[in-house]
Amino acid sequence: MYEMSTQDWPLQHQSATGWIEVIAGSMFSGKSEELIRRLRRAKIARQKVQVFKHRIDARYSTEHIVSHSEMRHESVAVESAAEILARLEPGTEVVGIDEGQFFDNDLVDVANELARRGIRVIIAGLDQDYMGRPFEPMPQLLAIAEYITKTHAICVRCGQPANYSQRIVPVEGRVAVGAADMYEARCRRCFVPHADTPTPHVVEERVG
Ligand SMILES: [Zn+2]
Repeated sequence: MYEMSTQDWPLQHQSATGWIEVIAGSMFSGKSEELIRRLRRAKIARQKVQVFKHRIDARYSTEHIVSHSEMRHESVAVESAAEILARLEPGTEVVGIDEGQFFDNDLVDVANELARRGIRVIIAGLDQDYMGRPFEPMPQLLAIAEYITKTHAICVRCGQPANYSQRIVPVEGRVAVGAADMYEARCRRCFVPHADTPTPHVVEERVG
């Protein structure tokens, strides 16, 4: 199957048509890293870039989006999807949004509105929660996106591509913001849809 790479996309100009790109996958699958890579390329092309994340996600930094591998890009923390529109500056050509699953369903309308204004919108996020259920608004964003990239981690139990975020602490609730202390990557076979004991031998390696 032919997969379109970012290199194939035309340079964005203010008068051009906008579009939506979604980068979806489990924890530790490199979503933020891929988002940061695309944002950096846009900046090399001298495009005006704005990056947003939800205020709830202050794991590594309040003013940056940060990947598990420590790549970072400056960002603005917002309370809601509507605040993204309110903070949009004139001339912005590319909008990056990290951890889309922390936003409410208004993000769907906001993404459409940004694209309608001719902006390239790139949204990264978790597509499933710790129970393996589709994590709104990511399913809706996947439906309206022009381009979708699904990223995979490596299952810490068996080494197969991992599509699930296994919670490894006994915390209930859909949103439990954490990283290697709370989740590990698992494949379909090794994933259990509730909190499970951590895989012992990967405690030091559970990054990336
Ligand atoms: Zn596995």
